[in-house]
Amino acid sequence: MFHDPLYAAAHPIPLDQVILYSAPMVIPITGPVIIDGAVAVSRGRVVHVGTRRWVLEALQQDMAPHGHITERHWDGLITPGLINAHTHLQYTSMSKVAQGSYSSFHEWELAFNAVYDQPETLPSWRESANLGARLMVQAGTTAAADIVTDPEAAGALSSQSMHGIAYWEVMDWHNADWKASGVSELVSHLGRMNAEQLPSIGISPHAPYTLETSPFVDLPDIARQLDIRLHIHLAETPLEAGDRDTSLTTYSSTAWRDQDWNSYQQLRQAGKGASAIQFLDQLGSLGPDVHIAHGVWADKEDRRILRQRGVGVALCPRSNRITVTGKDAPIREYLEEGNLLAIGTDSLSSSPSLDVLDDAAMIYDIAREQGYTNDDLSHRIIRMLTLGGAEVMGMHVGPGRIGQINAGATADLAFFDIPISSTTPQGIETALEDFVRHGAGTNRATVISSHLTYNDNAFEADSI
Ligand SMILES: [Zn+2]
Repeated sequence: MFHDPLYAAAHPIPLDQVILYSAPMVIPITGPVIIDGAVAVSRGRVVHVGTRRWVLEALQQDMAPHGHITERHWDGLITPGLINAHTHLQYTSMSKVAQGSYSSFHEWELAFNAVYDQPETLPSWRESANLGARLMVQAGTTAAADIVTDPEAAGALSSQSMHGIAYWEVMDWHNADWKASGVSELVSHLGRMNAEQLPSIGISPHAPYTLETSPFVDLPDIARQLDIRLHIHLAETPLEAGDRDTSLTTYSSTAWRDQDWNSYQQLRQAGKGASAIQFLDQLGSLGPDVHIAHGVWADKEDRRILRQRGVGVALCPRSNRITVTGKDAPIREYLEEGNLLAIGTDSLSSSPSLDVLDDAAMIYDIAREQGYTNDDLSHRIIRMLTLGGAEVMGMHVGPGRIGQINAGATADLAFFDIPISSTTPQGIETALEDFVRHGAGTNRATVISSHLTYNDNAFEADSI
């Protein structure tokens, strides 16, 4: 629906139906925590957010003469719908892979391929992907960066009216084959996804160890022509780590320019110490329209490059342990240096749940173990779960914006059963920390574009 805010301001349409969600605590993300707050929603968007008293007052001027306000009170915490910044919903039926234990990333890959290559033993990719989307909604997630490998899985986000981006995955191409048939295959897949009227599509060049150089040059070029976004698995495995101390000038040196490298692997075999992040940066594959998943093996120079190019990182700590990436991401350094961060569960083939709060809890613990001592940790993780996720997909500003509760934003909300026992400053901090560390499994209702999409006895049945 086209919405022109300036036209709307000059021609206000009185509201007939408004739902007022009120709660002892509302986290709008773009402003301070609100005590005894309320969120008014109508026609898919937030009308007002603030204290319950202020919102009711402000609504008076917006209502049609016989307009109706329905209040739904929730005795807990209201947040924007959470955003899962890295997943593959189609692998929801592959949870037995995540249940194994592996001694290396390669061993996990072999176990993954053994199951993936026998799709006849699994439900259809469509069923699997749609089930994953439903599990996310139940966990309070309303948007995701979803990587799609098989076309039947492309409609998962839409099946639940979720927001986010379905990224078409491109992997396993050598340069010559890519030029000969890869580009045309890609275009036909994107055309098919477009014909299905998926709300938002992107491209996911898989990783530097499954694609040679040409696709990493062409895919960003194609995506940028089409104004669509990119999402890459990067710095996930030890193979992608640089093997020497790098400095600002390392790869503007002749060592880089003397040769066109066919692949990252070839560069490494020639004894060059570039990390995968530096390699892709040299190819022009990075930028503010890109976010990467994992970022485990990102050293200081790599993190600087990510900041310099405006590339966000979706941290997936539980997946990293299961797939044996060799260590945890440098979360403390990312936080202290100010990288753009979001959180993803990855898929059920490498993670025990699709509840992004399970990863939030682990990020909290890892940051503390790594020596991050600032008292803003809960706040920063809540930002990763919401606005950070929106930002890495370019959905944090403008019409349809998500990951925040403010006037005009998309009305995506989650309702957590977190006790709000005290409204002193310390009580508020305790509630925020409870949410981050123990919030998994406590979502009781989910609103997407102002529709109550999931309701686990949070509100009376007749109010659906
Ligand atoms: Zn992944």
